[in-house]
Amino acid sequence: MKKTVPFTRQELIKISETYPTPFHIYDEAAIRKNIRTFLKAFEWADFKEYYAVKACPNPYIIKILKEEGCGTDCSSLPELIISEKCGVVGENIMFSSNETTYDEYQAAMDLGAIINLDDITHIPYLEKHCGIPEVISVRYNPGPERTGNSIIGDPVESKYGFTKPQIFEGFKMLKDKGAKRFGIHCFVISNELNRDSYVETAVMLFKLVKEVNDSLGIKIEFVNLSGGIGIPYRPEDEPVDLMAMGREIHNAYKQYIEKENLAPLKIFSESGRMVTGPYGYLVSKAIHEKHIYKEYIGLDANMANLMRPALYGAYHHITVMGKENLPHNKKYDVVGSLCENNDKFAIDRMLPEIEIGDIIVIHDAGAHGFAMGFNYNGKLRSSELLLKEDGNIEMIRRGETIDDYFATLDFSNL
Ligand SMILES: *Cc1c(COP(=O)(O)O)cnc(C)c1O
Repeated sequence: MKKTVPFTRQELIKISETYPTPFHIYDEAAIRKNIRTFLKAFEWADFKEYYAVKACPNPYIIKILKEEGCGTDCSSLPELIISEKCGVVGENIMFSSNETTYDEYQAAMDLGAIINLDDITHIPYLEKHCGIPEVISVRYNPGPERTGNSIIGDPVESKYGFTKPQIFEGFKMLKDKGAKRFGIHCFVISNELNRDSYVETAVMLFKLVKEVNDSLGIKIEFVNLSGGIGIPYRPEDEPVDLMAMGREIHNAYKQYIEKENLAPLKIFSESGRMVTGPYGYLVSKAIHEKHIYKEYIGLDANMANLMRPALYGAYHHITVMGKENLPHNKKYDVVGSLCENNDKFAIDRMLPEIEIGDIIVIHDAGAHGFAMGFNYNGKLRSSELLLKEDGNIEMIRRGETIDDYFATLDFSNL
């Protein structure tokens, strides 16, 4: 898919006069258009998307998604607070956490969130500290039944979820302890562009719904297909055909749920990446060039602004603004300022010749981008901006200052 930027070079230069680079910027109109397509793909179902807050924990983004009908998927107290501030409460929150403390469970239960348990030992833990809620979901780890991929790994090696025997044992325990409404969650594939794997997850869960119903007499109210839908990071990638995916899951629903008299069954998702990823950009400037054994371009952004390339060698497309149509005949490592040699946004990337001051846009930073930011090496997190539907720019988070960085230190006791 052709990678484009919803701005011209001149527009970005103008924005950077008010909001200095580096900054993250999100495209509201594109986010709305995409989520509408996703929801349309599941129009046939009683469907809800719980946006994974960890992907882009900015309340202004969550509010846009709430307006489009989404809930939130949270896994920590701060994420719950963001959700609450946006007015997303009650069963519009899915609490899909792991290694959870009871105060976090309690905060989620106080908000009326759906608790999605990661482990069978959390049943007595939850009962002891908070009590068992009426509605409860359990996270299934299919183990050797499924193969994962490089980001999430093989399910057998994955720390998440209940084994299959534990699913049955767990539901029985939960029912005996007073739970009344039940759901099953599964997350096995991450950043997957082949829609078949998402459809397979649905089929696997539909079959499990029947097994639980047959063996325990428990009627499952919802399945949660979780996240993991990929995005076309590379120009040669194609986005997942959401409408086709919805149709295929609908066919499976007819076969495995309706025909088996298990309907109605709600279908939930917790997508993050696919919902906002392609519609966020990290905007930076080239501030240095260096000619040693290789050619380097140094940016004013670094891996503290976007960790994925350094963390998993992830590809993020780069546009040199205003030079889109020039020959890409220079080979660069595009790097940040961290004292870590893996602080590279791109290695051996063919780009047009870059001059100091050029605006460099790094694509697909709208999910797991700013959110993964950190302060190592004294780096400050950037601002976040929103390109609104009316074309105006709004700052939706200011950049960190040195005072923010030092806020947890008390120099007076030195
Ligand atoms: C990270 C995460 C998601 C979102 O995953 P994406 O790949 O961004 O769609 C959903 N659910 C849980 C439990 C997660 O940890």
